[in-house]
Amino acid sequence: MSVAGLYLHIPFCHSKCTYCSFITGSYEDLLVQRYLSALLREITTTANLLSPSARKIDTIYFGGGTPSIIAPDWIERLLNACYQHFSVDAKAEITIEINPADINPERLNYYRSLGINRISVGIQSFIDAQLKEIGRDHSAQQAKQAIVELRKVGFNNISLDLIAGLPNQTLEQWDYNLSNALELEPEHLSIYLLEIKEGTTLYAQIRSGRLEKPDEDLAAEMYDKLVNKLVGNGYQHYEISNFAKVDSQTHFYSRHNTKYWLDVPYYGLGVSAHSYQDQARYSNVKSTHTYIEKIENSGQAIAERIPLDNAEQIRESIMLRLRLIEGINLEEFQTRYNFDIMANYKEAFSELLENKLLEIANGYLRLTRQGILFSNEVFVLFV
Ligand code: SF4
Repeated sequence: MSVAGLYLHIPFCHSKCTYCSFITGSYEDLLVQRYLSALLREITTTANLLSPSARKIDTIYFGGGTPSIIAPDWIERLLNACYQHFSVDAKAEITIEINPADINPERLNYYRSLGINRISVGIQSFIDAQLKEIGRDHSAQQAKQAIVELRKVGFNNISLDLIAGLPNQTLEQWDYNLSNALELEPEHLSIYLLEIKEGTTLYAQIRSGRLEKPDEDLAAEMYDKLVNKLVGNGYQHYEISNFAKVDSQTHFYSRHNTKYWLDVPYYGLGVSAHSYQDQARYSNVKSTHTYIEKIENSGQAIAERIPLDNAEQIRESIMLRLRLIEGINLEEFQTRYNFDIMANYKEAFSELLENKLLEIANGYLRLTRQGILFSNEVFVLFV
């Protein structure tokens, strides 16, 4: 069995971005202390329920929210608990998401001393007016300076996040954002197309007519530009939204996120976090207060457990693997799941192949560039 990954959710942010639909709140000292104490406890209780072999992990990911908002000695306490209760691989990938506004040399050196070896920086745009419009609390200059500081203290596995399709964003502005990102030479880039989710400020702004809904054709053009520009600059496009530097010795894929696409177990701890193990999906409660209470009372905060039968597991696995640009190795898939994808989805796939949304090459089934843009139409087959 492949080695699992561990995700720790920190649900606090400096301010709320207008497009954000995650469970996050502002930093309140007492609440943060109680939450982190609960998270420490959940690390222990989760590990204690696992067999020794299932306790082996080779990735730890601090996500949020904004993990860099909390004092670094809390990150140390959480990591120590992971080391104490899980068998953490000596070469584990340990990632933390950071906000450029939180960066200073002391904090970064602290992270390094803890063995954190991968940093994911939320930048989203290099245009100050755009950052302001979406409620980010840092400037483009701070974002650039953050990368300089990260390099100074020796981080050599840095990922940047950008968002395409922001309201009123032009193709030229998108190109400018990509050029700025490339100048910083990150090892990895995660690029998301803006989604407008109900309940967000952005949703309300668009409904009230204050902002225009981003144009879908323009978003498709942005995606094309993105792929051409990053691939043209030597990045490997390895997943719909992810690009990495590669050389003959190594690649800079996100090892943690790759587990999500390859049917590998992961344990998600913290409010609203998701887990996957023993052919079942789990999710924790969605309220921070309820999470704390449940953990304080019982050590667990699971709201839902969805067991997957074989057919469901196969469907999910096809959908998730199709997110990978290399696609699905049909022979390997058949061996692992005893399931012939092409025979079982013959009719549905023949139309998608004919419409050039899917293709088969060298034994791999994958989405075409057009198929990526219409991936929801393909994925609907497996829901
Ligand atoms: S920093 Fe991230 S998690 Fe926090 S509000 Fe903004 S988008 Fe949401």
